[in-house]
Amino acid sequence: MTKTNYNKLKAETLLATLGRDAEGHSGVVNVPVYHASTILYPTVAALKKAGKREYGEVFYGRHGTPTTFALQETVAKVEGGWRSFAFGSGKSAILASLLAFLETGDHMLMVDSAYGPSRDLATGLLTRLGISHTFYDPGIGADIVNLMQPNTRIIFTESPGSLTFEMQDLPAIAKVAHAEDAIVVTDNTWASPLLCNPFALGVDVSVQAATKYIVGHSDAMMGMVTVNKKCFEPIKRAFEDLGASAGPDDCYLALRGMRTLAVRLAQQGETGLKMAAWLAARPEVSRVLHPALPGDPGYDIWKRDFSGASGLFGIVLNPVSDKAVAAMLDGFELFGLGYSWGGFESLAIPTYPHKLREISDWDPSYPCIRFHAGLEHADDLIADLEAGFERLNDKI
Ligand SMILES: *Cc1c(COP(=O)(O)O)cnc(C)c1O
Repeated sequence: MTKTNYNKLKAETLLATLGRDAEGHSGVVNVPVYHASTILYPTVAALKKAGKREYGEVFYGRHGTPTTFALQETVAKVEGGWRSFAFGSGKSAILASLLAFLETGDHMLMVDSAYGPSRDLATGLLTRLGISHTFYDPGIGADIVNLMQPNTRIIFTESPGSLTFEMQDLPAIAKVAHAEDAIVVTDNTWASPLLCNPFALGVDVSVQAATKYIVGHSDAMMGMVTVNKKCFEPIKRAFEDLGASAGPDDCYLALRGMRTLAVRLAQQGETGLKMAAWLAARPEVSRVLHPALPGDPGYDIWKRDFSGASGLFGIVLNPVSDKAVAAMLDGFELFGLGYSWGGFESLAIPTYPHKLREISDWDPSYPCIRFHAGLEHADDLIADLEAGFERLNDKI
């Protein structure tokens, strides 16, 4: 193949073409799994030179092998960032994105609808290190200026939010942050690198729980941090300091997942929306929490900033007993009950947003369920939901 101008290509084409080096690998289509700790050099001079390596050059296994670099290049370009780093989990990627910029005495603003373990970092480890935080309402937009302190270094965002799926006005937040010398970090896992380019919205650092849609098959844990040019050095430092890099087998699985990301997401997004629309018409359902469903409070921002929907959304039931909700969930034939999401299989879990939120009011008498639409046929999934409501109504 001849040299390609990747800037002209659409994301689907990038997913199929980036991170490949057939010439360097005997014509093999995929960059193989390079297992490595030691890298050998022919001379002392070469060994010394390698110490001053560029990003994407091998040096020592912990900093990545060609398998890692192929994945990192692909994620960074598809998501619209400058460089990417592969971590052993989404959680370690989040930790790196925070520790890279925060010092004792600093302050962080974190959205109230952030992923629970992200909140735990704010209230736990970072508090212990003398870094303070304020949780803010996901709908705050430009009013976040009122919460800025002289020592606010990071505004941490996640759009849509975990469990409750509120959208955030990222461009408005980024404008405030940059006027006050703070940076914007976003957890972009819901959209994957494909459906939202956070860098075009003013975000500086984007975190992906690659465990979800990038790997896409529920068989590996990984995280990615992608940055703009301005934030490259601090993240590189944090990546090296933490030593929490992903192993080559997992990088291979993640890059394999990227190849089919566009077709999986198109299908899962469509199935999720069919389920959401069907659920919205059920008398047992009080609200559907899905930003791509017309009428959702986040719909306009989603339409403005995203190019599609993934398959994860929530519902709020009208008040029923916990026993009725359990009867509905326990009897599902197609929806698995389990944490995580982003694989090929459909999932459902009960959620308890009121236990996590400080700012928003969530009435615990209205039970919540989170669904993940997999690659099963939508008709079969909806039949499984319908049977679930029969069990729920039996137990009321
Ligand atoms: C799962 C998840 C994470 C954490 O990823 P792990 O790979 O499980 O550590 C972070 N953010 C969001 C939104 C998630 O859903």
